[in-house]
Amino acid sequence: MRRLLLIGAGHAGAELLRRWAAAPRHDVELTLVSPDPLAPYSGMVPGWLAGDYAWEDCCIDGARLAARAGAKLIVDRVVALDAARREVSLAGGRVLGADAMVLNIGSTVRMPGLSEGRPPRVLPTRPLGALREAVDHLAAAGCASSREPELVGVGGGAAGIETLLALRRRMLQAGLAPRCTLLTRDTELLRGLNARARRLARDALARAGVAVRGGFEVQSLASRGLVGPAGPFQAADLVLWAAGAVAHAWPADAGLDVDAAGFVRIDSTLRSTSHPWLFAVGDCAACHPPLPKAGVYSVRMGPVLAHNVAAAFAGRALRDYRPQRDQLVLLNTADGRAIASRGRFAAAGRWAMRWKDAIDRGFVARYR
Ligand SMILES: Cc1cc2nc3c(=O)[nH]c(=O)nc-3n(C[C@H](O)[C@H](O)[C@H](O)COP(=O)(O)OP(=O)(O)OC[C@H]3O[C@@H](n4cnc5c(N)ncnc54)[C@H](O)[C@@H]3O)c2cc1C
Repeated sequence: MRRLLLIGAGHAGAELLRRWAAAPRHDVELTLVSPDPLAPYSGMVPGWLAGDYAWEDCCIDGARLAARAGAKLIVDRVVALDAARREVSLAGGRVLGADAMVLNIGSTVRMPGLSEGRPPRVLPTRPLGALREAVDHLAAAGCASSREPELVGVGGGAAGIETLLALRRRMLQAGLAPRCTLLTRDTELLRGLNARARRLARDALARAGVAVRGGFEVQSLASRGLVGPAGPFQAADLVLWAAGAVAHAWPADAGLDVDAAGFVRIDSTLRSTSHPWLFAVGDCAACHPPLPKAGVYSVRMGPVLAHNVAAAFAGRALRDYRPQRDQLVLLNTADGRAIASRGRFAAAGRWAMRWKDAIDRGFVARYR
């Protein structure tokens, strides 16, 4: 019996499990290692943060999917890979070997160190499970120490804007009156989207009273604030950290071929360029040319991954993954509206939020 190890139940991995359930390979033992049986779907996480969805509504049930696929689920986290022995070590102490592996572990964030004093509370936006834990902890601790806390989002991309607007709304509902600021390293928000989408995002932030401070690269946490390289200070009680996706360290430590940022280099069939028995998909993979770190790419990799894993075991030809040229972006502005953007088109309204809600619920429902 050959062994396949799926590490992380990201979006592509969920599709692999779904297709495996429909066409199981009885000569391959499939094991999923995931720190949580529930795998959050990022599109709905800002809606959860704003209080519109329960956490379970936003999640794919990895345990149920694994059971349907006849896979064994191990609730744990991989901490190291021995590529020569094809073995992984888990945080709980177990060692697992496999003939083939799929890495679908997403990305994380790198938060700044503390320079002095009592730092603000920082909520990481990635991994999404860590965001949930931090928010639950915050709610348990009473949300904020003052009625008018300084709420600061760091990162001018979609995740930074959506999470800041969502948390602001949650705090308003809790009777607080946060003063909100969005810090971005660039002077422009939403790099990669068209000018109209960027203007619509600025309008939404302005309507919510969010001050945007561009050209501010956070260097460290200080007493009740954040400091930039040349000394500018931003007061902060609570910080949402959404300053870009960072690679998990252990794949590079294992000697896999990685790009300059530590993401696993893959070929057009989604296999590691250095270790072809290992597939890497979603945020943790580095395609050539590089792709944005967005869930839609992981979703589209799913069917190719499922085909190629089965084909590799059967000795059949593998398919190429061809990324879409542009993607539909639907940004939840936490005011009942969303911004829709694709190519040079952008518009905003309640209709866009209804559209987003239908797409997102439909996506999660496919895995129920
Ligand atoms: C707030 C926010 C909103 C976003 N909204 C959108 C959006 O609307 N549309 C969009 O396209 N993108 C969005 N993104 C980006 C999106 O979240 C990521 O690109 C996407 O989740 C990546 O999917 P993935 O399949 O690579 O992995 P993920 O969905 O991140 O899943 C990785 C899984 O691996 C598990 N894992 C991690 N480490 C280990 C380990 N060591 N061992 C075992 N398991 C592990 C994690 O627990 C997780 O379940 C958003 C991001 C954020 C932060």
